Amino acid sequence: TDACLNAIEAAGALNAFVHGTPDKARQMALAADDRIKSGDAAPMTGIPLGIKDVFCVQGVASQAASRILEGFVPEYESTVTQNLWDAGAVMLGKLNMDEFAMGSANENSCYGKAINPWKIDDRDLTPGGSSGGSAAAVAADLCLAATGTDTGGSIRQPAGFTGTVGLRPTYGRVSRYGVIAYASSLDQAGPMTKSVRDAAIMLGAMASVDEKDSTSADIPVPDFEAALTGDIRGKKIGIPREYRVDGMPEEIDDLWQKGTDMLRDAGAEIVEISLPHTKYALPTYYIIAMAEASSNLARYDGVRYGRRAGLGQGDGITEMYEKTRAEGFGPEVQRRIMIGTYVLSAGFYDAYYNHARKVRALIKRDFDNAYADGIDAILAPTTPSAAFALGAMDTADPVQMYLNDVFTVTLNLAGLPGISVPVGLDRQGLPLGLQLIGRPFEEGALLNQALVLE
Ligand code: GLN
Repeated sequence: TDACLNAIEAAGALNAFVHGTPDKARQMALAADDRIKSGDAAPMTGIPLGIKDVFCVQGVASQAASRILEGFVPEYESTVTQNLWDAGAVMLGKLNMDEFAMGSANENSCYGKAINPWKIDDRDLTPGGSSGGSAAAVAADLCLAATGTDTGGSIRQPAGFTGTVGLRPTYGRVSRYGVIAYASSLDQAGPMTKSVRDAAIMLGAMASVDEKDSTSADIPVPDFEAALTGDIRGKKIGIPREYRVDGMPEEIDDLWQKGTDMLRDAGAEIVEISLPHTKYALPTYYIIAMAEASSNLARYDGVRYGRRAGLGQGDGITEMYEKTRAEGFGPEVQRRIMIGTYVLSAGFYDAYYNHARKVRALIKRDFDNAYADGIDAILAPTTPSAAFALGAMDTADPVQMYLNDVFTVTLNLAGLPGISVPVGLDRQGLPLGLQLIGRPFEEGALLNQALVLE
């Protein structure tokens, strides 16, 4: 814990930790020490962690990197963090992210950009997003692991960009209670770690059946670490034809081939499969995510949480809402609230939102069919490129940024688990990740397959 606290201080330029809790960390580390001495240690006991700012931690500022939550200090603890503390983990502080987890570069944050510890000629690169602070902190050894959330790739894409491991569990495996909501039917928290084994251990501590989350699945949490035998003989790995998109860089293709060979050499059977509705995943995801976000973010009204704008003479409640939301939300969040409201409006609901829900069902059916055919997991690139330079995306064209999520959003729509593992480097020496998409609630098997790629 002391080594991490020192490293955090020395790495301030990365802007990964945005709110340190060193006193809490030392106290928790001492308690973990006692627990270890009394022979009552669990695998996470004494492990110093960073927590994405989207998790409510009792008594610690938790604002999902938004100005609108300035001054909000939760009275309650998210189930995920409570589970981690119960297991003896140590809290180092809160980590940078995109505002309300909306973004793919950690550039939409009230704390400013987070920076990838990997560099090209001293040029600053994005650590990815939205869990950019988490990924940067793990990659720079500021913590042993971190929590992330993955609504449409926000664990896997930053893991891919920083050479770390990121696991998004099956929807319902990890409680969403106390996790500040973005799109509730897609949100899921998971571990961001240095190794597959760490991800197995940490997921075991994070997951629970939770009556405080009505979408928590009533399925017991197995021992994920026990599943790590390294034996994947006879497993069928699907290679989805539709992920070979136009203009995919050769090095991504080579990486994909390398991963395929690693799995085959370990005894897996490689099968080409088709997920025919893949090309609709990106627009479907952005319609559903924005619709749900516009509804979830209606609660930030200047009354219930955090910040309220200064009011002028004669301002009424409408002006209070307007001014608070106009100054509290950043431009990307405002854009999404407006698009989300539009796709849910009476005249357009059927054309956009309802349509997207139907396509979502088709995307899920593609995966169901593959698994019904005996496929155990699906291998694909995590991202279409390595980490890009900060500011490289034209903010006047937000769709450019959305396109970076082409491989990650599909499984969120289907509620499936996925893990990104670093498998190689690009021509410039930057890390590249591959993702394995697993069967629902079979994270143990998924982690075991991922072990072969490590
Ligand atoms: N880039 C995706 C988005 O902006 C990532 C979201 C996420 O997983 N939190 O919606």
